[in-house]
Amino acid sequence: MSVSASSSSAKPEIVVIIGSRPAGWSAAIYAARANLQPLVIEGTAQADMVPLGQLAYTTEVENYPGFPVGNIRAFIDSAIAKERKYILPDAPLEHVRDGVPHYAVQGTELVALMKEQAINFGTRVMGDDVVSIDTKQRPFQLTTAGGVTVSALSIIIATGAKANYLGLPSEKVYMNRGVSACAVCDGALPRFRNKPLVVVGGGDSAVEEATYLTKFSPKVYIVHRRDVLRASRIMAERALTNERIQMVWDSGVEEILGEDKAGVTAVRVKNLKTGEVHDLAASGAFMAIGHTPNTSFLGGQLEINEKGYLKLSVPFRTNTTVEGIFAAGDVADDYYRQAITSAGSGCMAALDAERWLGAQGMH
Ligand code: NAP
Repeated sequence: MSVSASSSSAKPEIVVIIGSRPAGWSAAIYAARANLQPLVIEGTAQADMVPLGQLAYTTEVENYPGFPVGNIRAFIDSAIAKERKYILPDAPLEHVRDGVPHYAVQGTELVALMKEQAINFGTRVMGDDVVSIDTKQRPFQLTTAGGVTVSALSIIIATGAKANYLGLPSEKVYMNRGVSACAVCDGALPRFRNKPLVVVGGGDSAVEEATYLTKFSPKVYIVHRRDVLRASRIMAERALTNERIQMVWDSGVEEILGEDKAGVTAVRVKNLKTGEVHDLAASGAFMAIGHTPNTSFLGGQLEINEKGYLKLSVPFRTNTTVEGIFAAGDVADDYYRQAITSAGSGCMAALDAERWLGAQGMH
């Protein structure tokens, strides 16, 4: 969808939301209903800021309240305008019962529904990437990859963080078919139940993911490239004493092995000290090797914390270190990183922006 945005010489936008994930769309819904006439710059698939964010890589989302397993397709057909359905994947065939789809909402569907809801309340959407912003000028100036300059009284940054992957071609082949970067999102799916699983990494996330997966799996391997965990002592202890978790030290993943139909069947690991290679039979490979927040376009103008995430300057609020700019979702959250927490912080950012604009007499 193309829209006209306020150029630097025209009347500025009241609020520009950068990002099109649960945080961005929730902020848009609240901002639109507060008559802030939000403009969402949603990103393109060419850049890091992939529209839909990490939910684009998820299949079913079973932990987002309000979407129990059921005939979601019928609901979507009634809730999303026909011309926007092109971004939706086909209903998962394996969940069709008696000719009727029966599944929990998929990541792409969930975000498409959020977007539709935001548009219904008057949100405008620009399919472009923000490449830089100028926070020294008021109104703020944003420049897009398409060469458009947008002027804004306030900004909500909701660009998310991307999970790091190893970069193996086989990882891409089996993405969503056994390869995942979120055990909490995907771990309970039938493909992982009662099957051996592999978690890669040695930090708190790896331990947390592995521990979570032991609820469903009798055998979880943690493959770590060193012989000591980076995870905090209490978390490390949890992994090392869990009978269902087996450490595979000093090892790197060489390849994810699988079959067309079954998806992941094994993970090939190499001992980095001895060079020995062997395959671990597993139906899942969970990457827990850190996240990278999408902040490079900010050019260092907003403060980040020691982990690279946007710093929030007021406890329990979404204010960044630049007045008038707010942050929501994973770009400022290295801890929870869930769709529901992102959506909640998007709502908070819209309310914070509305109140700030009001206090400045700008709205
Ligand atoms: P992290 O602490 O940065 O750990 C990343 C792990 O992945 C490290 O063990 C690292 O190995 C490994 N790694 C990185 N790149 C790799 C590669 N290319 N190949 C193989 N291994 C690789 O990240 P995190 O575990 O996601 O934690 C992020 C932050 O969130 C941390 O501050 C953590 O404390 C926090 N967190 C807290 C909790 C909790 O308290 N419940 C839960 C999750 C996360 P090396 O050790 O060799 O560097």
